Amino acid sequence: MSSPSFFPVTEEVAGSAWIDEAKYKAMYAQSLADPEAFWAEHGKRIDWFTPFTKVKNTSFEGDVSIRWFEDGVTNVAYNCIDRHLATRGDQTAIIWEGDNPSESAHITYRELHEKVGRLANVLKAHGVEKGDRVTIYMPMIPEAAYAMLACARIGAVHSVVFGGFSPDSLRDRIEGCQGKVVITADEGLRGGRKVPLKANVDKALESLPDVTSVIVVKRTGGTVGWKDGRDHWYHEEVAKVPAENEAAKIGAEDPLFILYTSGSTGKPKGVLHTTGGYLVYAAMTHQYVFDYHEGDIYWCTADVGWVTGHSYIVYGPLANGATTLMFEGIPNYPTVSRFWEVIDKHKVNIFYTAPTAIRALMREGEEPVKRTSRASLRLLGSVGEPINPEAWLWYHGVVGDGRCPIVDTWWQTETGGILITPLPGAIGQKPGSATLPFFGVKPEIVDNDGQVLEGATEGNLCITDSWPGQMRTVFGDHERFVQTYFSTFKGKYFTGDGCRRDEDGYYWITGRVDDVINVSGHRLGTAEIESALVAHPKVAEAAVVGYPHDLKGQGIYAYVTLNAGEEPTDELRRELVTWVRKEIGPIATPDLIQWAPGLPKTRSGKIMRRILRKIAANEHEALGDTSTLADPGVVSDLVGSRMNRG
Ligand code: ATP
Ligand code: MG
Repeated sequence: MSSPSFFPVTEEVAGSAWIDEAKYKAMYAQSLADPEAFWAEHGKRIDWFTPFTKVKNTSFEGDVSIRWFEDGVTNVAYNCIDRHLATRGDQTAIIWEGDNPSESAHITYRELHEKVGRLANVLKAHGVEKGDRVTIYMPMIPEAAYAMLACARIGAVHSVVFGGFSPDSLRDRIEGCQGKVVITADEGLRGGRKVPLKANVDKALESLPDVTSVIVVKRTGGTVGWKDGRDHWYHEEVAKVPAENEAAKIGAEDPLFILYTSGSTGKPKGVLHTTGGYLVYAAMTHQYVFDYHEGDIYWCTADVGWVTGHSYIVYGPLANGATTLMFEGIPNYPTVSRFWEVIDKHKVNIFYTAPTAIRALMREGEEPVKRTSRASLRLLGSVGEPINPEAWLWYHGVVGDGRCPIVDTWWQTETGGILITPLPGAIGQKPGSATLPFFGVKPEIVDNDGQVLEGATEGNLCITDSWPGQMRTVFGDHERFVQTYFSTFKGKYFTGDGCRRDEDGYYWITGRVDDVINVSGHRLGTAEIESALVAHPKVAEAAVVGYPHDLKGQGIYAYVTLNAGEEPTDELRRELVTWVRKEIGPIATPDLIQWAPGLPKTRSGKIMRRILRKIAANEHEALGDTSTLADPGVVSDLVGSRMNRG
């Protein structure tokens, strides 16, 4: 319990990093004092066919309008590929690591150029024009990145749908963006199991006759259904067209992609991102947050179906001319050492993953980590949920051997890129805190009436001014955009997250504001109670929700997953209650603890507390939108063993 609570920047890291403390302070101050000048300078980090003369034209009032670099003309694929050819044509752009450890590949920038050019020509041959939408439903294979870049090259708008989604969810998303073309694969491969992607597309398209072309990558060679005229093999199509394809001239505010949020808090929203500002922001955050340097091998374990995969597997790294690793498999296949083995195999320097993966691997103990070297690692990152301090310390001490700074990056599908994060050479870390804002980002904490709270405080997290990577609208529903993000607190972007700011100005995300528990008038964030439970040596994972309580208004209901081999006894239940009282205080005492063999999570691995809240309140008939739930079986198990709250 006496682990350090502050990890200062070491002199070594500060000396070699792009940004040290003094530079961070100066640049941050300038970015707020004169955003026009700041972004005019940093907007030049990408190549423009026609340079912008206007920088920022944004308003969070009224109808809400967000435009960056609006008269500039560029192309995202050109910036991610063509401009690197002269200097790094033979450098590896993508390292692909297959599900099966014996399969991997290196794709150079020159090869990437050829693959993307051909696919762009295929799309054109299938009638795809600038502004048309293309759905990408793919496994984690290089063709997924080619597909995104091919769309960007011709100005088509991609909508990537995570390959784990069901035919129904896929149909909704194709329908939502009115796409006419789908790019998919025969089957995916994850953890040795086949995923029937083409069969799912066939089902989804039963009621969507307007989809005219399905382009299918042969990944496994398994048998698939075929509709002549509509379905085409990828390898046959790319062989028919030339590789030469001139990157189209795309306006800075032309759409780049539509992507749905994870669905943790309700029905997913179709987030629209545009071209220039998004790319500037993704590339700049990738360079500074991960302190990316020439020659680094960089690995983000997300799926391209999530925004993390968009900004930090594909667009940010490639815009920077980096080598980005793309992993087809899962953390525990063939063994629970897989992540660390991949790091050793490809000499990964920068590693970016999610708390859910860290907690799962932590359950397996240190040995599977320690039997690998990981000597190449220099920096670790986390994203997706608040990282419990216990998991942070394990990541730092065991995975990073105490040597690597951790960047706990807070951001959202809506924000396009990272907003609150340590910069490794500038900002010392506190386990569990996302620390300080990135350049140009002005966070504000407000109470429920919208009053701005100063100093050390806690409340609702808002951002008061625009940054270039911000979403522009909800696709096809601008009113929903204004309502969802700008109406709760007038004139501010409301994140939906609760947040605490400490005496040092560090930000701590306390969870979704919808999840805040009000016990006898005290507002408690879920993250803190969960972290206290996870800090107990026998607990692997925990989720905490409120439920109606006669005396307190709300009681605290905790779902607890134990470490492998631990017995769920009444004695342990009492021990955990005492433990939380001691860690946080009597106000946070759990009223009920239910043993949970598994927790309901989104397919991106986030705990869905809104479903746990329904189970706790005995309202399991009305669970809400469950289409993004990874494993529905977990929910029925929990309903079956729900605690009787008398
Ligand atoms: P939906 O918006 O559909 O409910 P979602 O919010 O889970 O789903 P994402 O955009 O994938 O969809 O996730 C963004 C959210 O993830 C943030 O609002 C925050 O709650 C959480 N999050 C992401 N990174 C961090 C982090 N480093 N620390 C704490 N929370 C994080
Ligand atoms: Mg959200």
